Amino acid sequence: ITHKSGQDSATHSDSDTCVASRQPPTTGVADKGENPLTSGNFNPLTMFIKSQYFTVTDLTTQLWCEQHMLYALMGIEPQPPEPLEGEVQVPVPLKTADRPEVKAGKSVHLARELEIHDFVKVKISSKGEKWAVHILNLLSAIQGFLSGISVVREVPVFGDPFGTGDLFFGIIDELRFDQETYSVQLSELKTRKSERLPGKAQKKQHIFQVQVYKRLWDNLVRGEFSADHFLTKLSLTEEADQPLSDEIVQLMDASAISAETLRQLLTNVLSAAQSLVCISSTIIEYVQQDTGISIGQTKVQDDEERLLRAFHWCMEFWHGRREVQGVEIEEAWKCHSCEYASICEWRQQKCEEYRLKNALQS
Ligand code: SF4
Repeated sequence: ITHKSGQDSATHSDSDTCVASRQPPTTGVADKGENPLTSGNFNPLTMFIKSQYFTVTDLTTQLWCEQHMLYALMGIEPQPPEPLEGEVQVPVPLKTADRPEVKAGKSVHLARELEIHDFVKVKISSKGEKWAVHILNLLSAIQGFLSGISVVREVPVFGDPFGTGDLFFGIIDELRFDQETYSVQLSELKTRKSERLPGKAQKKQHIFQVQVYKRLWDNLVRGEFSADHFLTKLSLTEEADQPLSDEIVQLMDASAISAETLRQLLTNVLSAAQSLVCISSTIIEYVQQDTGISIGQTKVQDDEERLLRAFHWCMEFWHGRREVQGVEIEEAWKCHSCEYASICEWRQQKCEEYRLKNALQS
């Protein structure tokens, strides 16, 4: 099921679902290159997470380079790189979302999704109805498994998987349910322009992403999800008891669940989720985006300690407990293709430190 309205375009990417409600800061901090964390009272959580929840993609983007993520959230346009000697005009790099390889990746995902189900367009007129559609998509996956289907794709998951009081949302690429062993496998598809497997830094992002998805799913099926927390975080406590639209109620007719309000729908779906089991294995599949040929697979081993370390590092920034960080010197190669390299304060500071250290040593 996909939703359409005046404000939210139909989408199944967890990064896109809340982008419409995010705004660049209005305090004037978006001047090129200015680091807002050093310019006075600054709370990134209240300034940027207007939608009151994080997407899993938010955190994976942050793991690549937090400074880059912040520039993008501030609405800073990509900047031309410093010209090399002899160069006159250097083209402005495209934003990540506009890059051809990113668009090609989205097409591959869409094609795979359409292999196993069709879209039904739903008119939505409120935030509550938008979330009702996500919940119905989750219900469709749960009921699919319970009725004998073995593969579901684009499954929404949400919750507070680390008990920090924050709300997270993501869309799992694929879940496979083995009826005989009653086990669930999570599979994440990554498309690549090249025919090589990604390097360590990208793999780290991908592994983190699927581990968070696993936590979200496991919390749902264990009944560790609080409907009240969900509705409060999204400021939906009042709307949750209003009647759902006829269109959404009709969609439920095809399922075994009936509900008149968002709260009832959520409660019933959470209850149905508890008939299922936790994810027992997690894989990441890499595919070359033009040929569709598999490049390889990574089987993800649980590493609770590493997951928690990465998660808390991310949240320290959002909760204002530390300043923004760019990449460390060992990962300076990321800066070479960065659209903010020519204005990046972090990079300038690190280059300065490096020059100073070399000067002292010589
Ligand atoms: Fe991050 Fe380097 Fe880009 Fe700065 S130049 S935003 S440190 S990748």
